[in-house]
Amino acid sequence: MNETVRVVIDLKGSVFWKKPWQVKHNDRVDLILEIKRDKSISKNLRDIIVAIDAGHGGKDPGAVGKNLLEKDVTLLIAKELERTLKNTTGYRPIMIRPDDRFVDLNDRYQNARKSGADLFVSIHADAFSLSSVKGASVYVWAEEASSITADNLSKAELTRNPAVKSKIGKLDVRDFDEDAARTIFQIAYEAKIANSVILGEKILEQLKRDPFTKMHKPNVEFADFRVLKSIDIPSVLIESGFISNPDDAKRLEGKAGRRMIARSIFLGVHNYFKEKPKPNTFMTSAPKSVEYEIQKGDVISEIAIRFGVTINEIIQWNDLNNKSIYPGQKIKIVI
Ligand SMILES: [Zn+2]
Repeated sequence: MNETVRVVIDLKGSVFWKKPWQVKHNDRVDLILEIKRDKSISKNLRDIIVAIDAGHGGKDPGAVGKNLLEKDVTLLIAKELERTLKNTTGYRPIMIRPDDRFVDLNDRYQNARKSGADLFVSIHADAFSLSSVKGASVYVWAEEASSITADNLSKAELTRNPAVKSKIGKLDVRDFDEDAARTIFQIAYEAKIANSVILGEKILEQLKRDPFTKMHKPNVEFADFRVLKSIDIPSVLIESGFISNPDDAKRLEGKAGRRMIARSIFLGVHNYFKEKPKPNTFMTSAPKSVEYEIQKGDVISEIAIRFGVTINEIIQWNDLNNKSIYPGQKIKIVI
């Protein structure tokens, strides 16, 4: 048979499907396609929107290391995170800075709100006057910085970009788009800070498990980073390391090191929603696993690293006897 035969199945909604397979009989060959209803479609669930803010960009290089610029490192980590979120059912990433462009700090968190973001993560990799200073840290906004390092970092950011400094006290008219936000300001803002701390702790917990990354600070730090000042969206800033330190610079120059930062952020975000599930999202049903859609070029070992699981676990959960996977296939990952 030389001609291609195309079989179209009309469906009323999305389905999960397995790669078709053939069964040979004496007189014929059966082509079997197994499909299962995608329940999340029928329940009308919305995606969880995560705003990813790659620090600096364009005319603002951020910290300048020996061989690398902070703005490039932050964008590469952001893209790793974007890739995981994009291909995991129920999550949708929004890139606040999609490429090497300058984005005003006020626009960063305000654009996150305009996109309906549920969370905001800002990714940085700063420098310090002492090259021995290294490791990752997680920050939440506060008027008073919690430590000398945080204060110095805030100041370093400030020298590079004066707009980083929060405006007069707690209230800035540009923080709000809606009048209603003003009246509910206090409660919403307190809840936001509390949730930001939870999110920060979840990310920190994962960073501590990452064998590549050393921690700079063991607890969530507080700093006056303007980019975190959104009224109601839990926001954290991740310092993935100090590019002024040779070990950190080497780690962040490599894909593996950057991928581990992205993975810690992703798992931290996921664990945050386990604790604080958003209504009408897939997390409300407290799922034990996520569903990842295989992309062209994906290999199981890389997916395993991305989610912090083992290759064997992925094979077992998905009944993959051999390691062949194919684009469009949806696999289950227990996290
Ligand atoms: Zn920075």
